[in-house]
Amino acid sequence: MHMILSTLLLSLLGMGIVYGIGKILIRRYVRNSLTGRRQYRSPSLGGFILLGGIAGALLTPGLYVSSKIMAMAAVLACFVILGLIRDLWKTPWSVILPYQFLLIIVGAYFDIVVSYPVRWVEILLTLAWPIIILGCIKLASVIEEMPFLLGIESGLTFLLFFPNQASTPPEVVICTITMITISAVLLCLFVYGQRNVLGNSCLMPLGYLIAGISMLGNSKSLLMFGLLIPSMVVIYPFASICFIIMFSYLGNELYQTDPSARQSHYRWILHRDRVIVFTGMIFLTLNFGGLLLIQHASWPAYISLIILISAMFASFFRTFASRDVVSRPPLGSRIRILGVAIDAITPVVALDRISEAVDSGDVFFHVITADSLAVMRALHDKGFAGIMERANMTVPDGAGLVWSADFLGIPLPGRVPGVALVNDLCCRAVERGWNIFFLGAAPGRADQAVAVLKERYPGLIVAGIHHGFFAEGSELEDLVLKKIAELQPRIILVAMGVPRQELIICRLRGLLRSGIAIGVGGSLDVISGALPRAPVLMQRFACEWLFRLWKEPRRFRRMLAIPEFVLAVLRAKWREVAPKNNRQL
Ligand code: UDP
Repeated sequence: MHMILSTLLLSLLGMGIVYGIGKILIRRYVRNSLTGRRQYRSPSLGGFILLGGIAGALLTPGLYVSSKIMAMAAVLACFVILGLIRDLWKTPWSVILPYQFLLIIVGAYFDIVVSYPVRWVEILLTLAWPIIILGCIKLASVIEEMPFLLGIESGLTFLLFFPNQASTPPEVVICTITMITISAVLLCLFVYGQRNVLGNSCLMPLGYLIAGISMLGNSKSLLMFGLLIPSMVVIYPFASICFIIMFSYLGNELYQTDPSARQSHYRWILHRDRVIVFTGMIFLTLNFGGLLLIQHASWPAYISLIILISAMFASFFRTFASRDVVSRPPLGSRIRILGVAIDAITPVVALDRISEAVDSGDVFFHVITADSLAVMRALHDKGFAGIMERANMTVPDGAGLVWSADFLGIPLPGRVPGVALVNDLCCRAVERGWNIFFLGAAPGRADQAVAVLKERYPGLIVAGIHHGFFAEGSELEDLVLKKIAELQPRIILVAMGVPRQELIICRLRGLLRSGIAIGVGGSLDVISGALPRAPVLMQRFACEWLFRLWKEPRRFRRMLAIPEFVLAVLRAKWREVAPKNNRQL
């Protein structure tokens, strides 16, 4: 007992001292950077706290420290340094991840190879487990307190289970207690406003610590079972985030053929405290269930487990499924999703605005049909963000944007699909006698689309057609743009995909005084019939993107930005609820 107490005291002392040193070091760095060339980035002090806690615990007198634990501490220190490099210099993940993997291999070497005959399953598990946990901790950090809660709760789980395994060395129990203490201190600091503890220098070693202890604490023959218990760390953040998205995504009717029918909008309510209570309940329930299984408990114990699970589900519905009706921002106003401006507009209003611009004849009017991928591109590419900011109108083409606007409590009237806009515009062009230039798509594809449109809208005046397969800055591009400038069409539809079409339109802006240009992506492929539209049911549930992925698997890489977008929206929503203030969102 006195050993546990001295470990606690020493680790608290260590945390205090190293935190202080970290603060001095980081301050010095700030001063230097202001006079020097390097740019100052928000530092993370969590890593120093973690390092101090571990160092303090290792100093406990009388504690037998195994070579495995020393190796784990050394790897942890390297993780802290790696995390600091990422936090301070924003080093790209492509550089950080290989080093991270290298550290995991070093840790695995000390964990298995040094003391056990090598077995492939063990090697794979020892390598895969920290990778999975590190990924989950990063995912969990969307809900900011979550990584620290996971640290505390995983530690408590280990303490429940380790006594059942005779092979668990006592020093691993001490390490677990240290991990709980460190996580609790970090959580307290975060809740009381020290937001700079939440950085990679803290999250990465914390993830490694959870994974390392869970593996050290279990004999190798029990490793598989031992891994099942802390897999809550994996399951919880993933499952809860999927639930949040599913409920908010399917709950609102994102797709309506007539957007004016989408009258009521729901605001999704997140209560920080309830989410945290819910996490606790999941852990308690699963741990309790696990214990019952190990101890071969009698039936009344299983009944109480069922009651606990029911309470957990009740808590789930209270936590994530509560919603509230909100009013829409005024029609035609601009909202911002992750800082990117989107017009709150219906197809009818969009068409009216475009018509006004064509009739006035004295402006060059750029329309962007945006989806979540375009928003993500704007976040990563400043040039493209500038183009989006300067565009005269940005309509929400993708269901992802409508979902995120709902979720953030600034609902859009609905989607303005690019294909529908092209059709409506052609119809109006026939009524008003405007001519249209079609630029983009594969050779021959635009001709097919124009043939379909001419059949649908007899009397359509086509100013010209050209395919979109020419290199950026090529002679052919200059020639095509020159031709368009000479023809001076009233409307130019550019179907070359984001961001190529927007860059072309920017060049056209310099050549033309009036007219409107719209980037319409794959719309000509859809109109020509080469690319089928998603079944109505998929459109209804806003899953067109899934259909597109199925039809064009090469889009997979690009579509990886969709989960990134969803996480960014979740993070934005969570940040709106200040930790000290449990306002509703
Ligand atoms: N495209 C083009 N030139 C290029 C690349 C693509 O004309 O250099 C065409 C392509 O044939 C397709 C259209 O751009 O018809 C839209 O492509 P994508 O579906 O990738 O764009 P998104 O709709 O996602 O913006």
